[in-house]
Amino acid sequence: MHTNCFIGGAFVPASSGRTFTVRNPANDAAVAEVADGGAADARAAVAAAAAAFPAWKSTAAIERAKPLRRLTELMHRDAERLADLCSQECGKPLAEARTEVAYGASFLEWYAEEGKRVYGETIPASDPAKRLLVLRRPCGAAAAITPWNFPIAMVTRKMGPALAAGCTQVVKPAEQTPLSALAIAALAAEAGLPAGVLNVVPGMDAPAIAACFFDNLHVRHVSFTGSTEVGRILLRQSADNVVRVSLELGGHAPFIVFDDADLDAAVAGAMASKFRNAGQTCVCANRFLVQRGVHDAFVERLTAAVGALKVGDGRAAGTQVGPMIDDAGVAKVEAHVADAVAHGAQVRTGGTRAQVPGGSSRFFAPTVLSGVTPSMRCFREETFGPVAPVCAFETESDALRMANDTPYGLAGYLYTRDGARIMRMAEELQYGIVGVNDPLPATAQAPFGGVKHSGLGREGGHQGIEEYLDLRYVSWRVG
Ligand code: NAP
Repeated sequence: MHTNCFIGGAFVPASSGRTFTVRNPANDAAVAEVADGGAADARAAVAAAAAAFPAWKSTAAIERAKPLRRLTELMHRDAERLADLCSQECGKPLAEARTEVAYGASFLEWYAEEGKRVYGETIPASDPAKRLLVLRRPCGAAAAITPWNFPIAMVTRKMGPALAAGCTQVVKPAEQTPLSALAIAALAAEAGLPAGVLNVVPGMDAPAIAACFFDNLHVRHVSFTGSTEVGRILLRQSADNVVRVSLELGGHAPFIVFDDADLDAAVAGAMASKFRNAGQTCVCANRFLVQRGVHDAFVERLTAAVGALKVGDGRAAGTQVGPMIDDAGVAKVEAHVADAVAHGAQVRTGGTRAQVPGGSSRFFAPTVLSGVTPSMRCFREETFGPVAPVCAFETESDALRMANDTPYGLAGYLYTRDGARIMRMAEELQYGIVGVNDPLPATAQAPFGGVKHSGLGREGGHQGIEEYLDLRYVSWRVG
């Protein structure tokens, strides 16, 4: 297991010599002692990325694709080891961790190809003696700050487009989950990625590390996935050196079920969207809006399915819902449930912490709340836990108004069989992603990202690589 910083192609201890302990949130067992990188290490990593940039950007895209493709293969080769590491550090069930390895690898594979299609443009000039060209050039070194909830995929989703575009990168993984990022770095080296193209600086002092991404002219792009609160801080910091930022921030997804929906599909979709990663997913359904005609049947079926979920250690056979990442996470879930109950919501199943033999106190029983109203906290804030609050609505315009009544705008879902309604809703929902009868819309080839307080920029799709490219307009007098 790699536990040191990865800088300039080598695993090196933190310059301070300090380490910190990564613990399994399921049982508090120490997983590893990891180098506690700080500002000096971040500066060294930025210097390594800046030094590697000229050669990497001049490498043909077709050649840059080779180590990325090879890394994809190595991730599949080591899928079981990576999944186990991921489950240990973030607590998610092994089955989900395996899916994350494949999803994470898909970004490298897809961008290895997309990097070959960074085409320029020629523009017909009004002056016949001129030729007008638009070149798309890699913007420079890039930095990535990633969260703990997808320790593999949030790294590769940033790394794939950056490296395929010809940028080099420094990654600062979440302090709870640095091991997956370091494992990817080791595989990248094995895949033949040149030294300095990818660097990883784990550490406890995120603000100090991040500051080194904004205090120089080498880092031209910072991609962040995490909370809206930290996203705002980074957006402010980006101003001094006018650094481009992509922000994938918090969500508060509505999951709308209309009377004409296929109810079995809606319940299955609700389960997939809500309880993945114990509800700690930025795009997971955070509030269920269900039309009056199917409300009771939906609540009944959802309650039965949620009550049957198996809670436990992510590495134990059959576990479907693991622990929350930390004490603050479980306390927030408890507070949201208590607030809803105090204001008249009914607990249909769950509602309390769950006891897991030998486990920590961070397990929360998968919960369904009915009788939820828009004034309750769970309806207004991201819960980020295994709680499904259900609220009834009467008309399509009510659903739309309730769904859009939030500063967040990452993902929204609707279940209906009415084609015209699908188009109306898809156009009017103020969200960057709309899942229509589809609880899992994220994929490497489509643009993922939010509007309003959910962020700026897109990851995935051909749009994702644009974030790392500068347009260079060339006006060429030929006569
Ligand atoms: P977070 O506290 O914002 O942390 C995310 C990353 O930012 C971590 O690496 C963290 O480092 C770092 N960080 C914390 N404070 C910082 C600062 N002042 N300056 C620079 N970096 C800083 O978020 P989280 O609790 O890990 O993740 C949960 C949030 O992420 C949720 O709101 C969720 O919706 C959102 N999320 C969004 C997406 C998306 O694609 N839109 C995907 C996943 C998650 P440390 O770990 O060292 O503190």
